[in-house]
Amino acid sequence: SSSLFAAVEMAPRDPILGLNEQFNADPNPAKVNLGVGVYTDENGKLPLLKAVAAAEKLLLEAPKAKGYLPIDGIAAYDKAVQALVFGDDAVASGRIATVQALGGTGGLKIGADFLKRLNPGATVLISDPSWENHRALFTNAGFTVGTYPYFDAEAKGIAFDKMLAALNAAAAGTVVVLHACCHNPTGYDLTPAQWSEVIAAVKARGLVAFLDSAYQGFGDGIAEDGAVIRAFLEAGLNFFVSTSFSKSFSLYGERVGALSAVSGSKEEAGRVLSQLKIVIRTNYSNPPTFGATLVATVLTTPALRAQWEEELAGMRVRIKAMRGALVAKLQAAGVQQDLSFITRQKGMFSYSGLNAAQMQRLRGEFGIYGVDSGRICVAALNEKNLDAVVRGIAAVL
Ligand code: PLP
Repeated sequence: SSSLFAAVEMAPRDPILGLNEQFNADPNPAKVNLGVGVYTDENGKLPLLKAVAAAEKLLLEAPKAKGYLPIDGIAAYDKAVQALVFGDDAVASGRIATVQALGGTGGLKIGADFLKRLNPGATVLISDPSWENHRALFTNAGFTVGTYPYFDAEAKGIAFDKMLAALNAAAAGTVVVLHACCHNPTGYDLTPAQWSEVIAAVKARGLVAFLDSAYQGFGDGIAEDGAVIRAFLEAGLNFFVSTSFSKSFSLYGERVGALSAVSGSKEEAGRVLSQLKIVIRTNYSNPPTFGATLVATVLTTPALRAQWEEELAGMRVRIKAMRGALVAKLQAAGVQQDLSFITRQKGMFSYSGLNAAQMQRLRGEFGIYGVDSGRICVAALNEKNLDAVVRGIAAVL
């Protein structure tokens, strides 16, 4: 008899993780990985933040038995995250439900599953382009996923009028996934004035905003990058925020994140929380302890908090320096085009403007790995690999 799995088809590989496998197999000693979205330091190493190491030491000095956490996670973590994302006043209002999640992805998934129960017929709109997993995640949660215009290749910026027109044409209840800051993959963020127009459209049309906040602190600062979330709050909207600490705490593998739902009252938040707990309970029961304990410890211990903010600022400043150096060196290498857009972009990525053929040449001839869309991870540039990257890009331009 044939196997139960005889008809199972091979799924396509994840484009970015597939690129990683290709990179690892490349024997070129000068290879540079600008594909995956990971911040590496001036030595090309994934950092262990000092604040995180100090919190880890505290935990290991007082080992604890490993009981189950509550379904919604560590209370002190949820509260500290809510304060970071929305401010202390918002916490006091009691109208936000925040649950610990398995990274930002886990937060998105809990939100998606809850939304599917709340409004099963809704359409989800993501930016064109967006983080690869947005479409797949919301599709797998049962939604029809469409896009709103975002990137304007010619203008090297945002197709804002078209974006706004799409929001204004969306049906009431449509879920709109917005990148709170450091848009992945383009690096182009809306201005505060543009955000105000988006908020007005969301309000006027009765849309449901779902803000994905995976890079708070990598753009202009913790408060600056969180300003858009406060603006949605002040507009009196009910909306969702997924938070990731993978990048900002360099805790990728610990899977630390959260989902917050902003509701109308404390009483309503209690009912929402009860439903979020059912989503969690029926998926993985309750979250793991370690990573969230580290983040809660750092956020609530003033000395560690200050150290983390300083280290996060260090990552942000280093990325900006690399953007500037990349542009300066490309121009010194004879590239004529205006590349100032690279320094206008925010966060870990740059949509470089290179096409798929150029990206493939970069990979094949120079061992420089970026995504075929032209996305490169500028957070993986350093003084040691910059010249090789400049040589490659200058050659294929
Ligand atoms: N959302 C965006 C826009 C991202 O870029 C990423 C990570 O690359 C995530 C969510 C997922 O973050 P996490 O690894 O914490 O699940």
